This record gives sequence, structure tokens and C-alpha cells, in this order.
Amino acid sequence: MLISYHGAKQVKAGSRFDAEARSFFSGDALSPFSTPLPRQRTKSFRAGVVRASTKVSKVKVPLELEEAKEPPLNLWKNKAPYKGVIKSVERIVGPNATGETCHIVIDHDGNVPYWEGQSYGIIAPGENPKKPGTPNTVRLYSIASTRYGDNFDGKTTSLCVRRAVYWDPETQKEDPAKKGVCSNFLCDAKPGDEVQITGPSGKVLLLPEEDPNAVHIMVATGTGIAPYRAYLRRMFMEDVPNFQFGGLAWLFLGVANTDSLLYHDEFSSYKEQYPENFRYDLALSREQKNQRGGKMYVQDKIEEYSSELFDLLDKGAHIYFCGLRGMMPGIQDTLKRVAEEQGIVWEEKLSQLKKNKQWHVEVY
Ligand code: FAD
Repeated sequence: MLISYHGAKQVKAGSRFDAEARSFFSGDALSPFSTPLPRQRTKSFRAGVVRASTKVSKVKVPLELEEAKEPPLNLWKNKAPYKGVIKSVERIVGPNATGETCHIVIDHDGNVPYWEGQSYGIIAPGENPKKPGTPNTVRLYSIASTRYGDNFDGKTTSLCVRRAVYWDPETQKEDPAKKGVCSNFLCDAKPGDEVQITGPSGKVLLLPEEDPNAVHIMVATGTGIAPYRAYLRRMFMEDVPNFQFGGLAWLFLGVANTDSLLYHDEFSSYKEQYPENFRYDLALSREQKNQRGGKMYVQDKIEEYSSELFDLLDKGAHIYFCGLRGMMPGIQDTLKRVAEEQGIVWEEKLSQLKKNKQWHVEVY
């Protein structure tokens, strides 16, 4: 029997980690912003017992996965991918979200290990529509779970996938013939389906863990949230003796509206349990207004807190950006403008941050 915990999904009932996961999610969370959450999204969570600021014990995990000194890289190649199995596919956005995003759990039976911040390659079945007669090419997806997976046993991987659709400007309709190959395969998959995996890959967003008291500023748009969900589960949900997080994790998430929020219950519970260690700021472009009366984008939130953020960066904070490529120009322009207002030459500051390995970007 599988139990759903609204974010820490499908823990096997009676499994080693079931009781701890159950206890972790028994608290309630405070909404981090004034917009009330739609009923449908909060129901199961609000059913929990309200215990403000109650810290619950972290989930025990199999610590053998801490032993490797280097992250696993490219264990499975395009020509000989690992054949995993879909465990679950769940739409995780509300009815009024812009587009569909799914949380997908894949069983790799421990054969495709990874570290937080890495990606998997997925090869959809069938022929490459651009090159008939050849298989589909690989697509990368940031991993949204820690190395232990949502089941805490090190055998699954979770992905956060947005279904790519094609909107035809002429007909003003979606054209299903041009829908995205791999994201649609994943979002339409059923438990038990085979899924071809390559990787893991990527070192840019590995979580630097030398200093467990460091400050991590995480900026995401949409599915760019995936690696941060993994970081935050490692920081606040799992009991990892060699990484007892005591620093500050500050998440800026930009989505269109409340219904498009991702993993909101999970993040809200950290905010309640670890108010000293977790900050959570949202930019809802279609619901909130920025200081100039325009749409609220993630860079507007960054601007709101810019002096604090620059101060944290001066003191060695890491800053991460993940999501659609188009997010970066607006963010860079804002940072430059704000820096200049503070008498800082942005180009110099940026090259210093890069040199110090404080600046981490993965956009697609
Ligand atoms: P494709 O088939 O590649 O199509 C791409 C787009 O082109 C679609 O919007 C499709 O509708 C459109 N299109 C197709 N045919 C036509 C045509 N004839 N004319 C015009 N347009 C057309 N994505 C996530 O959702 N979550 C993640 O966590 C994630 N992480 C990533 C991490 C990295 C490092 C990278 C590089 C990418 C990541 N991506 C992620 C993006 C992902 O790899 C895919 O690019 C995305 O899912 C789209 O792939 P697809 O096969 O569905 O679409």
C-alpha cells in the first residue's frame, strides 16, 4: 500500500521510513504570503494537526549513499541507457495553473545513483520526428529528489516536468502534432511503464556542503525549482549526520499564479519548523504587482531584498539560478541596476562571485 504525503509521495506503508515520513508531515504550515491558497491544494495538508513551530524529527536514510567521495557521472550512456520503471505520475498544479506540471517518480532500483543538483537524461520511446528511422534524442531533467528519493531508500528518482505544448498563433489553438516529445511521454506515462535513463549528469548545481552553516540563495522559475526541492529535503527533512544544516536557505520562486505553485506545502512546513534557517519568497506574476505597478517577477522580489542579498553575498553566500533561460537577462539587469545604485560595479562583483564559486547557473 502506498501513502501520499502531498510532496513526499508514495512511501511504502510499513516501510523502514514510513513512520518517520508520516511524523514529518503531521504538522501544519503557515501560508508564506497573504493570498489564500485554493482549497483543493490545501485540503490534505490542513487536515494535519496544527502545531505551530513544532520541529519534527528528521527521516533516517541509508547512509551508505554518503560514502562516495565524488558525484556519480554518466554511468549510463545514450547508446545503452538504463531501463527504469515509472512508479507514479502526478499533476501537481491546480486547475488554474498556466500549463501542466507533473511530479514523476522513477524506480531505478539503486542502479542510477545521483547527488542533489544533478540531472537525468531521458530518451522517449519511438522515432525522432526530425530524423525518421533514428531513436529519439535525449532530454535532460533536473532531479527533484535527494539521492534517497521520495521513498528514502535510494531506489527512486523524482522529476518535475512541465508538459511542452505548441500553441499555434494562426489557429489560436494547441497543435498536438507539434507537442514536446519527451515531456509528453513523461507526463502521460503510467506506473509500470519502462523509461530509458542516461546519466546522471551535471556538476554546476551540486550543493556545496563544506560549510553546513553557509547561506544558499536559490532563485527558480517554474520547474527550475527541482534541484532546490532536493537541497531543501536534504537540509530539513533527512537525517544526514555529515550534513547537519544550520545555515540559511532562502528560496525565491517565480510562477504565474497560486495554482502554479510547486511543492508549496513542503516548503511551507520548513518555514514553520525552521524559521531561522529558511526563507521563502514568491513572485506570482499574474497575481501580484511589483513596486512600479507592473507584474511581479522573481527579479522584482530580488530587488525588494537587494541590500540584504548583496550583504549576504559579500559574506560568502552562494546564489543559484535555475529555470527557463529567459529568466536571466531580467535578473542580470536588475542586479546591475541595484548594484550601481549601491555604488558597486556589477561586472566586477559578478566576476568576483564566479571566481569565488558563489555563482551557480543552470538554465534551459
Ligand atoms: P521537444 O520535442 O524537444 O520540443 C521542444 C518545443 O518545440 C516544444 O515546446 C514543442 O511544442 C515545440 N515544437 C515541436 N515541433 C515544433 C514545430 N514543428 N514548430 C515549432 N515548435 C515545435 N524541463 C522540465 O520540464 N523540468 C526540468 O526539471 C528540466 N530540467 C532541465 C535541465 C537541463 C540541464 C536542461 C538542459 C533542460 C531541462 N528541461 C527541463 C527541459 C527539457 O530537457 C526539455 O527541453 C523539455 O521537456 C522539452 O522537451 P520535449 O521533448 O517535451 O519537447
